[in-house]
Amino acid sequence: MNMYSDVVEIAKRRGFFWPSFSIYGGFSGLYDYGPLGVLLKDNIINKWKKAYLDEGAIFIDTPNITPGEVFDASGHLSRFSDIAAECDSCKSKFKIENVLAFNKIEIIPKSVDEALSISEKNNLKCPVCGNIIKKIYNYNLMFKLENSNFYLRPETAQGIFVNFKLLSNYYRGKLPMAVAQLGKGFRNEISPRQSLIRLREFSQGEVEVFFDPENEYWKDLFDYDEITLKPNTGVEYKTSIKNAFENRIIDNIAMAYFILKTQKILNDIGFKNDNIRFRQHDPDERAHYASDSWDAEARIDDDWVEIVGIANRTNYDLKNHDAKSSERMSLKINNRDVIPNVIEPSYGIDRITLALMVQSYHKNEKGYNVLSFKPEMAPYHFAVLPLIKKENFIKKSMEIYNMIMSIDSYVYYDETGSIGKRYSRQDEIGTPFCITIDYETLENDSVTVRFRDTGNQERIDKKDLLDYLSGKLK
Ligand code: AMP
Repeated sequence: MNMYSDVVEIAKRRGFFWPSFSIYGGFSGLYDYGPLGVLLKDNIINKWKKAYLDEGAIFIDTPNITPGEVFDASGHLSRFSDIAAECDSCKSKFKIENVLAFNKIEIIPKSVDEALSISEKNNLKCPVCGNIIKKIYNYNLMFKLENSNFYLRPETAQGIFVNFKLLSNYYRGKLPMAVAQLGKGFRNEISPRQSLIRLREFSQGEVEVFFDPENEYWKDLFDYDEITLKPNTGVEYKTSIKNAFENRIIDNIAMAYFILKTQKILNDIGFKNDNIRFRQHDPDERAHYASDSWDAEARIDDDWVEIVGIANRTNYDLKNHDAKSSERMSLKINNRDVIPNVIEPSYGIDRITLALMVQSYHKNEKGYNVLSFKPEMAPYHFAVLPLIKKENFIKKSMEIYNMIMSIDSYVYYDETGSIGKRYSRQDEIGTPFCITIDYETLENDSVTVRFRDTGNQERIDKKDLLDYLSGKLK
């Protein structure tokens, strides 16, 4: 079963997400969220936000439009780029890695010169038309705004770094200090593709955790939760985060702590540990600002897809802004001037949304689609359904609908089509509980509650219904 394709089809048909601007032909890398997608994405964001509020994080919100000076200091102007290969004949553009993989060459070039020399030796063929590719060049991934020195930010992080001093004053100079920002990132990807996986505009929940490297704050906070790691020196294996740190597989305590925290957040959202792992970047794969990086990856069919990137940014960004701006980025700690180090867990909200849908998707015994979200994560928690479309059933249904709405706003009402079809519709959008108003309801004021994952039903008195449903949501 190709779960990814099935989910993308359900997403469009049912209103989770679809390609933007399709009436003008569609443009790759741009996606709209529909009514259900907005609700699901919000639920994911809320879990992320709560987890970092619990961590004592503070939140800010800074502009998407950012002056070139910031990206000069952060190194993005000169180094936030991929090597592109372009076909003169069909005009297709690729990341060099994809052309090399198509031509069965395993080397990953570190520079344009190296890529050109591989290309000259091997006569690289275009994966689309087979023509020999000659044009290879550095491709900056940022969108520059016309007639200005402004860019759309490729990450939300710089908005946090440039505000470090103000934030630190607000936080009374204490370390560690975690600052989070939810916002859009924009990247002029060479080949945007696979719906929400490689977008030109995407939502990030980024957290910059500032700490003094001489102080191991998180030392006593580990537990032995099992985790799957794939270090760049070895094969994938299961261990505990504490063992991984003690054996120096993860050599930074803050990195170890936030890897574990990320696993817990993903579990809370609904990911099972068998379907996520943490993979360490190879040294030549890391972003220009990182000394070490681990990606949380989610299984999508036979692939592993990065959904969260956790980078050790050292004090690279603060040091550069300290050198190039009018602000000093150091703090006085025990008579030392310290420019704090930073661990950055960066959550790609769109990829998490897609991966959650894929991992929640299965077909029931009748062959119909089901999205088995955790009840509190589902776009709608409850659906109220009159058995038949007759005035007395509808009147009673509205009474029950209004009653449930008094405790929870995520209630769907549907009176169109056969009851079986309506149950299937709710299963396909992930609604965990359907409340049906039937003949018995009119006689004795009881309803049936049907469960998405088993199809089983229970009869509940109207007077007990609110307590019963609140209990089910917990
Ligand atoms: P990065 O800063 O590249 O580590 O990105 C952080 C997270 O943002 C990744 O783990 C992805 O989930 C997400 N992300 C990065 N680039 C894209 C993109 N082009 N489209 C969608 N999500 C992305």
